[in-house]
Amino acid sequence: MAKKKIIVTIDGWSSCGKSTLAKQLAKVLGYVYVDSGAMYRAITLYFLRNHIDWTDTNEVDIALRNISIEFHYNEVSQQSEIFLNGENVEYVIRDLVIAEKVSDVAAIEAVRSFAVAQQQNLGKKKGIVMDGRDIGTTVFPHAELKIFMTADTVVRVERRFKELYSKNPNITIEEVKNNLEMRDYIDSNRKISPLRKAEDAIEIDNTNLNMDEQLRIAIDMTEKKLKTLA
Ligand code: C5P
Repeated sequence: MAKKKIIVTIDGWSSCGKSTLAKQLAKVLGYVYVDSGAMYRAITLYFLRNHIDWTDTNEVDIALRNISIEFHYNEVSQQSEIFLNGENVEYVIRDLVIAEKVSDVAAIEAVRSFAVAQQQNLGKKKGIVMDGRDIGTTVFPHAELKIFMTADTVVRVERRFKELYSKNPNITIEEVKNNLEMRDYIDSNRKISPLRKAEDAIEIDNTNLNMDEQLRIAIDMTEKKLKTLA
């Protein structure tokens, strides 16, 4: 008999390794991985490129009608990549220019409704691991397994700095730290679906864990959950 498929949500602070864990866990389980943050980043890219004034609700509504977002699996990189109106934007959305604005864009009600509807649609068949900020609280409040990740700020800044520095050697640790703190602040203080740990989420603090260790913990949690549902 086919194993029961569940929804796994992974929420948490910026740069604490949510997507690394989500990707690896999805691979082990044979599930689909969805990076919900990439959707907000792609929308921000569209707004910036098209000079959308996102304080104007009318402009935002019209812009959203012209945005189509899809994920496609790339056999070469062996990962799911995001497409904005048919263009692969997986790499450009990681830029600090986008990170500087994304939390403001993600706080807009119409933007959230647009993204959440698509995220819920992607989870209809279950068998999905999705990471973000409000996945366990708003997108899939009935998900079978909810993980909330956290890590020491110093460690998070270092990790993100290394990642961004390899692409842009002009970047400074200060810029990375400021961006991280700013996003955490906006994300956890916004009116709609602020970042918070769902009551039934299990916390993983990965300050002192390597990737294999955190993956092992998440696999154990999933297996335990699947057993209770068998
Ligand atoms: O996960 P990532 O750091 O790429 O997310 C970028 C930004 O998108 C976050 O800082 C947050 O503002 C927004 N976001 C969100 N809700 C999600 C995922 C991301 O508001 N579910």
